[in-house]
Amino acid sequence: MTAALPALALALGLAGASAEVSPARAHPGDAVLVTVRGAVAPPAGTLLGRTLRFFDAGGDVWQAVAPLPTEAPAGAADLALTAAGEPVPVTLEILPAAFRSTTLDIPPRFLEPPAWAKAVMARDQAALGKAYAQPFGPPGFTVPFQLPADHERSGRFGDLRVYNGSTAGAHYGLDLAGPTGAAVAAANDGVVVLARDCYMSGKTVLVWHGAGIYTAYLHLSKMEVKPAARVRRGQRVGRIGSTGRSTGPHLHWGAKVDGLWVDPESLMRLDWVEARATPTSTPTSTSTPTPTSPPAPAP
Ligand SMILES: [Zn+2]
Repeated sequence: MTAALPALALALGLAGASAEVSPARAHPGDAVLVTVRGAVAPPAGTLLGRTLRFFDAGGDVWQAVAPLPTEAPAGAADLALTAAGEPVPVTLEILPAAFRSTTLDIPPRFLEPPAWAKAVMARDQAALGKAYAQPFGPPGFTVPFQLPADHERSGRFGDLRVYNGSTAGAHYGLDLAGPTGAAVAAANDGVVVLARDCYMSGKTVLVWHGAGIYTAYLHLSKMEVKPAARVRRGQRVGRIGSTGRSTGPHLHWGAKVDGLWVDPESLMRLDWVEARATPTSTPTSTSTPTPTSPPAPAP
């Protein structure tokens, strides 16, 4: 394809919708951003069998954030898009997974919780389920995500964990080994939907960002926000600790997109505003993204 073709198509009024995925090559466990331009109505699509949920990004631009499951096969992703019933060409390459295996020793009460703990965990699960049940809406932020704390990475997303020599489980977050009491900041603007002392994750803060995205801050020594509070990117939500199932002071930073845990650092690589810029647009057709307000907490 030559550069002249899109311009010619525009001049003839033949330009259909176009789309791209950012980044164009991603690992299993990453979040990706799908941007569709030139569509007057919401596009439709699926990625690896999951329905894409688009939000209006201003003008004729639509975006969806999607998770790549950790077990996604390497190669060209199964991705299909349509706008106004017409197929929109788009590609995404999934790179091979590179998860590691690590061994940890933890107190036995966390591997085989006593009966009383199981009752506590059931109540925790109910509270978490309610917190994650926010309605889908546009993003409540306009800039990329940032690290909630800058410390040594002591555990990476997707690590296979061997606990006390046997039980295995995947690690669905990024561990940052800061000292007890160090500040933990919200990774982006949003609304606090949970601040709770949970059996497994200890003192836990959950922030809802809109666009199907939540970030979680676990094992805190102190929670410094309350549910329904609006927080800004960089605002302190708590302090690093070692509460719950933890082997020492650290922040476990988690991110959920459309119901799946993703590598939170992959969110930091998504540039929402940059992706909306239309490379072939003229001044008259340039869409100006309207600033969106943070999502309102569910009643
Ligand atoms: Zn962790």
